Amino acid sequence: MAIQPKHLSNLEPWQDPKAKPYVQIKNLTKTFNGRVAVNDVSLSIYRGELFSLLGRSGCGKTTLLRMLAGFESPTSGKIFIDGIDMTDTPAYKRPVSMVFQSYALFPHMTVEQNVAFGLIQDGLPKSEIRDRVAEYLELVQMSGYERRKPDQLSGGERQRVALARSLVKQPKLVLLDEPLAALDKKLRERTQLELVNIQEKVGVTFIMVSHDQEEAMTMSTRIGLMNEGCILQVGGPTEIYEYPNSKYVANFVGSVNLFDGIIVEERADHVVVKSTATEKNLYVTHSASFPVGAQISVAIRPEKVLLTTTKPTGEHNWTSGIVKDIVYLGDVSIYHVQLPSGVIVLATVANMVRAAERPIQWEDEVFLHWKPENGIVLAI
Ligand code: ATP
Repeated sequence: MAIQPKHLSNLEPWQDPKAKPYVQIKNLTKTFNGRVAVNDVSLSIYRGELFSLLGRSGCGKTTLLRMLAGFESPTSGKIFIDGIDMTDTPAYKRPVSMVFQSYALFPHMTVEQNVAFGLIQDGLPKSEIRDRVAEYLELVQMSGYERRKPDQLSGGERQRVALARSLVKQPKLVLLDEPLAALDKKLRERTQLELVNIQEKVGVTFIMVSHDQEEAMTMSTRIGLMNEGCILQVGGPTEIYEYPNSKYVANFVGSVNLFDGIIVEERADHVVVKSTATEKNLYVTHSASFPVGAQISVAIRPEKVLLTTTKPTGEHNWTSGIVKDIVYLGDVSIYHVQLPSGVIVLATVANMVRAAERPIQWEDEVFLHWKPENGIVLAI
């Protein structure tokens, strides 16, 4: 049951029934020696989107990207770009450019020659090549590096040159295969923002493969979460995080507490769930329709769980427990609290005071509670 997140009330192209998708993937399947790598995937991606295919290693995201690029031919299904059937069009004739994880720059060429390469092959006039190369090197903030060779650049600089080389041919669609994976954490975070800014400036459509959920959440207009060749959920970062449609998605994106239970009351605006994990019943406000008696799981993010030393007064949504572990992460700490049922619940607490002054320590008895709107009911 999909729940309409508030932030999607402004009409975005995927919300507009009249908007035409720029890339349309219809029932795409790819098998290698009888093993399914991509399983009947259908997706619509709109002009100007930065769409991420997210999933763990081996789930089929690169195979899907390679089929879009034309490097792999589908076993069945169709690919349309700008309304034109591209399924059998060879890679070099597609309006598509690919940026690889390993940069794939020509090592013997200078930065300028690398960026100019595609334009020279297309036979553009020399003056136009010079102007376009300068324009795109400026766009990726690499002006002044024209004469350097790739081995005289840092990883981030090389990736920016690779991006300039892709964009200089003004493709309609850029495919990025884990473009930032080789960069260290700090540089990756900076380059993520740069990449988004560049994409917005140029207005081109990006489809990116990532196994890093934080990266996909930071950069994407929407995410397609994949598992075992299938798309499990498509949505904006907030939608995927706040309204996962399955236990798998809830677990893959961030951490989550899951309480298995049975629906004991079902109304238009809420359900009440009895769980063997918690002392009190769980009251969840939402419109998902599960009948009384249905076996479900209630998902609650650790940052939505409040930790107190005083007993809450409400009838629902609280439980007691003993602090078994405190994982210090600098800005926040994650408390691992064991309930009388033995279940461990995670609660993220902002470190507003220094460690020694914190009121809750190991082996303390605490109470955990959360608001009815912060739970999500998921099918088991
Ligand atoms: P990663 O994040 O590790 O790159 P991925 O999600 O991109 O993984 P794919 O590379 O698309 O996954 O691979 C999906 C499945 O298809 C894997 O089981 C892989 O072993 C298999 N596969 C991919 N390419 C081939 C090939 N050329 N021949 C046979 N099997 C392949």
